[in-house]
Amino acid sequence: MKLLLATNNKHKVKEMTEIFADMDYEIISPKDIGLVLDVDENGTTFAENAMIKAKAFCEASGYAALADDSGLVVECLGGEPGVYSARYGGEGLDDAGRTQLLLKNMEGKTDRRAAFVCAIAMVFPDGRLLTAEGECRGNIAQKAYSSQGFGYDPVFVPEGFDKTFTELGAEIKNPISHRGRALAELKKKLEKLA
Ligand code: IMP
Repeated sequence: MKLLLATNNKHKVKEMTEIFADMDYEIISPKDIGLVLDVDENGTTFAENAMIKAKAFCEASGYAALADDSGLVVECLGGEPGVYSARYGGEGLDDAGRTQLLLKNMEGKTDRRAAFVCAIAMVFPDGRLLTAEGECRGNIAQKAYSSQGFGYDPVFVPEGFDKTFTELGAEIKNPISHRGRALAELKKKLEKLA
């Protein structure tokens, strides 16, 4: 069965494809089917936004759709950037720019605790819905490991490690990440459904 990833983010496509590789689905991206869809993420929670995206991509394509809405919640910033992680600092910034803004806003802060949070929604063409959530706690480094890499990975050091997600790489990141954990929960629900 074909499963459409409800995202235009190439990093999410890569990670979700890797994490779902052991499942009995043919993973496809919007690009694979020439689908151009920009969904207005106007929910106020990760879970709401994941559901909005999964429903929109399922309706537009006719395929089952899997959406991830995720972000970084930083303790000393009162939970920012949170659901606005992808838009932190406005439209003009790229991943590296948002990371630099985060470091600037955390200057002088000794409490560096943060968590990546991920909500997953899967919607089937017959209307069935599945949801799951995952979290990965850690700390924000004093400086970025590099200007490359997915989102805030160059500054996020997961609990139990002394290196950033960028340095640790997919083999270590995927099993412990917010996305990996949410998708593991979703897989259990899918097995029950079968
Ligand atoms: P959205 O879920 O598309 O609204 O955006 C999620 C945003 O959160 C991304 O654009 C990144 O900035 C950030 N983010 C989510 N997951 C990760 C991750 O695994 N690594 C780094 N940044 C992430």
